[in-house]
Amino acid sequence: MLSRNECVALDQHDPLAPLRNEFLLPEGLIYLDGNSLGVTPKASVSRARQLVQHEWAANLIQSWNKAGWFDLPTRLGDKLAPLIGANAGEVVVTDSTSINLFKALAGALRIQSLEPATAQRKVIVTERSNFPSDIYIAQGLSQWLNRGYQLRLVDSPEELHEAIDSDTTVVMLTHVNYRSAHMLDLQGVTAHAHRQGALIIWDLAHSAGAVPVELNLANADFAVGCTYKYLNGGPGSPAFIWVAPRHQAHFFHPLSGWWGHAAPFAMDPSYQAGSGIKRALCGTQPVISLALVECGLDIFSRTDMGAIRKKSLALTDLFIDLVETRCAMHPLKLATPREHHLRGSHVSVEHPDGYAVMQSLIERGVIGDYREPHIMRFGFTPLYLRFSDVWDAVDTLFDILDSSAYQSGQARVAVT
Ligand SMILES: *Cc1c(COP(=O)(O)O)cnc(C)c1O
Repeated sequence: MLSRNECVALDQHDPLAPLRNEFLLPEGLIYLDGNSLGVTPKASVSRARQLVQHEWAANLIQSWNKAGWFDLPTRLGDKLAPLIGANAGEVVVTDSTSINLFKALAGALRIQSLEPATAQRKVIVTERSNFPSDIYIAQGLSQWLNRGYQLRLVDSPEELHEAIDSDTTVVMLTHVNYRSAHMLDLQGVTAHAHRQGALIIWDLAHSAGAVPVELNLANADFAVGCTYKYLNGGPGSPAFIWVAPRHQAHFFHPLSGWWGHAAPFAMDPSYQAGSGIKRALCGTQPVISLALVECGLDIFSRTDMGAIRKKSLALTDLFIDLVETRCAMHPLKLATPREHHLRGSHVSVEHPDGYAVMQSLIERGVIGDYREPHIMRFGFTPLYLRFSDVWDAVDTLFDILDSSAYQSGQARVAVT
């Protein structure tokens, strides 16, 4: 177990330490929730002011061209692409993760239904522990299509292999589980899905900016993900969608709005999908929110996912070790895999009074969050978190548990 001084020494030798200065971090707060809402890049404050005062207030409609508003989805997509192992022209930043998942699933089902070898397949495979919205979107789309699609909900990652079979049309998985931080083998599962004749969609909500992802290397088909989590884009900032280049010409989705049209300003009464990834767009974007995504992305250009992953694992290893040694007397149970290759960038710990303990932590300036049932979630974002923060957070947790300074059976607030 490391001492606090040893953690401070790790901070002094941390190559990512200077990047902390790029963010606005409230004094005295230890923020372990960057997996839910990333912190504010300092550049976002001045960029927001410039957007509102200059681009919107002064230049008004001319800013669509002059300030490059119209091209933001593709330009930001190109900037995001290297973080997920993709190339320019393969990603757009637009809409929400749920909506992009709808588009990807609709497009994938269509491709499969037009291929004689897979046209009769009706099974969509996902995990029961997937983020609920992902499951709901698949349920909603299947019911809407009314063509007999069924969802196969797999109960554990070990059962995935068998569940993906010759009935499977599309596999739709979240790479890093939002609750447990369990990470799937993106390349291995993709290869298996392809051997079975299925297409695969990856949700990278807890992966983009958190763990290295190699979509092209894995030969994946589609991917979606958030920018407001590890990418620090701002609350509700638009999400992204990636379509493998080999599918782009065959990719059609039902949200065929004018931004996805081949000639948006021709005002043609019939839809003709734009070329390449542009056809994944639908309509007018929340420009202010979208533009701020760039401030978060720019910080990543000063490092690489290898360095981020190395520090992420060191932070989560430290947290697990400190919790297990210092809080050994308390009924805590690790819900996150210990094996590095199975672990994302957050750590979940179960406690029978998890909600109350988390409320006490938050009152004392250690911000994590809570997910039913009994899970306290702690996110570790290498861009701005220090090893000494991890030590201090566990110290506070130890103190709360040891003095029973939490109130059992509390009512839940709206956003936990
Ligand atoms: C956070 C998260 C989402 C969020 O989707 P929204 O459309 O932004 O609400 C979706 N999927 C997963 C796996 C997530 O973790």
